[in-house]
Amino acid sequence: MLALHNTLTRRKERFEPLEPGKVRLYVCGPTVYDYFHVGNARTFTVFDMVVRWLRASGYEVKYARNITDIDDKIIERARENNETMEALTARMIDAMHEDFDRLKLLRPDIEPRATRHVQGMLDLIAHLEKKGLAYRGGNGDVYYAVRQFEGYGKLSGKSLDDLRAGERVAVEQAKRDPLDFVLWKAAKPNEPKWPSIFGDGRPGWHIECSAMCAAEFGETLDIHGGGWDLQFPHHENEIAQSEGATGKPLARYWMHAAFLNFDSEKMSKSLGNFFTAREVLNKLDPTQGGEVVRFFLLRGHYRSEISYTWDTLMDARTTLLGFYTALKDTQPVGVEVDWTRGHAAEFKAAMDDDLNTPIAFAVLHELKNEVNRTKSPVLAGLLKALGGTIGLFQDDPAAFVQGKVSASDLDVDALVLERIQAKRDRNFSRADEIRNQLDLAGIALEDKPGGLTEWRKK
Ligand code: AMP
Ligand code: ZN
Repeated sequence: MLALHNTLTRRKERFEPLEPGKVRLYVCGPTVYDYFHVGNARTFTVFDMVVRWLRASGYEVKYARNITDIDDKIIERARENNETMEALTARMIDAMHEDFDRLKLLRPDIEPRATRHVQGMLDLIAHLEKKGLAYRGGNGDVYYAVRQFEGYGKLSGKSLDDLRAGERVAVEQAKRDPLDFVLWKAAKPNEPKWPSIFGDGRPGWHIECSAMCAAEFGETLDIHGGGWDLQFPHHENEIAQSEGATGKPLARYWMHAAFLNFDSEKMSKSLGNFFTAREVLNKLDPTQGGEVVRFFLLRGHYRSEISYTWDTLMDARTTLLGFYTALKDTQPVGVEVDWTRGHAAEFKAAMDDDLNTPIAFAVLHELKNEVNRTKSPVLAGLLKALGGTIGLFQDDPAAFVQGKVSASDLDVDALVLERIQAKRDRNFSRADEIRNQLDLAGIALEDKPGGLTEWRKK
C-alpha cells in the first residue's frame, strides 16, 4: 500500500487515485530560456522516479510535464540574443530533451506548451471574471482577487494576514490588493501578444498550469508536483484559479521535492550559484554520467535537502560502480519478482513509505553484498530488477564499469602540464576540469610546493 506525503495536509496519506488503477499526474516543468541546472534536474528526476514507481506498482499513469515557453525572462533573453522568442525556445527545448535523455528521464506522455494553450487561459480568466474572482486593473492588466477566494494560503500554510505583513512590494496602483496576482498582462511594445476580450496581451505565469491541467485532465488531478519553492505563490495561485473556477479540488495529493543546495544555499539561476546539468554531464564519462547524476539525485530522500559538490557526486559514482561491478561479476538472469518476500518486500515497503529511497538503497546495498558473496545469478537478477523499477542498473555492466575514458587513453603528462599552465594563467575552471578528467580516469594529483604536480594511479 503506497503512502505519500501530501503538502496540503502535511501528513503521509494512503494513496488512492480518483479512478482505481489510474493516475493523473502533472508536474510543473521548466521555463525554457536557458539550460536547466542540477537543482532543476533534481525535481524532474524525483518525479521521474514517482512515475516509474507508480507504474511498477501496477498503475496506469498519464504523466504531463509542461513547458513554460512565454515569460519575462524568455522575452528578455531573446532580445539580448537578438533572436525571436520562438527560435530561443525551440533551441532550448531541443537541448532540454537531449539533457533529459542523458539523465534517463522518461518522456512525459504529454508536454503541453503554454503558447499553445492561450485560448484556454483566456476562457478560464473570463470565467473567473464572471464569478467575481478576476477584475480588470485600469492599466489593461487583469488580476485575480485573492480575497474573494476562501482558502487562499491553504497549501503553503499562510494566512492572508501573514502574507500582508510580509508584503514589501509597493502596491501597484492597478491592484485592489497587493496580494492580487496578474492573470493577463496588457501588451507592451515589441513583446509577443495575443488578441483577447481584455485587449491585446499575454498570459501571466500561474494561469498556464490551471488551463493546461484542465485541458489535459479535467477538474481534478491525482498528483500535482514541483519543486519546494513552487508551493507559494505558484501552486497557491493555481489552486485559487482552478478551484475558484470549478469548486473542485485541483489535486488530491501535492508533492514537492526539496532543494538541491550549493554552498548551503538553494542552487538557483538568480543567485548565480548553479551548474547546468549539461556541464556536469560533460565532466563525467559519457557511458556513466547520466546514471551517476540520477543515482546521486535519488539516494537522498526527496523531501530532504541535498548538497551538490564534486566529491559527493564522485562518491555516488563509486557506489554506483560497486553495483555495476557486482552485476558484471555475476551475470544476472531474468527473474519474476516476488514482492511478498525478502529483499523485494523490504525494497517495496521502503518505496511505498513515501518513496523512502535512503532505506530502499540500503536494501539494494545489502542485496549487492549478497550477490558478491553468493555469486547467485538469481539474486543478481533481482538486484537488476529492483533497481530497474526506478531506472537504475539497466546498462551493460562490463561496458559501464569500463567507461569510455581510461588512463591509458589519456596523455597524463600533457594534461598535468596543461593544468599547471592553466593555474598560472588563473584559468581555474580549466584546471579543475583537468583534475576532474584525471580523477575519473583513476589518476590522483598531488600539488607540491613551487607549482609542481605529481600524479599517481589510484
Ligand atoms: P524553473 O525552470 O525555474 O521554473 O524550475 C523548474 C523546476 O525546478 C521547479 O519545479 C523548481 O521548483 C525546481 N527547482 C529550482 N531550483 C531547484 C533546486 N535548487 N533544487 C530543486 N528543485 C529546484
Ligand atoms: Zn505550474
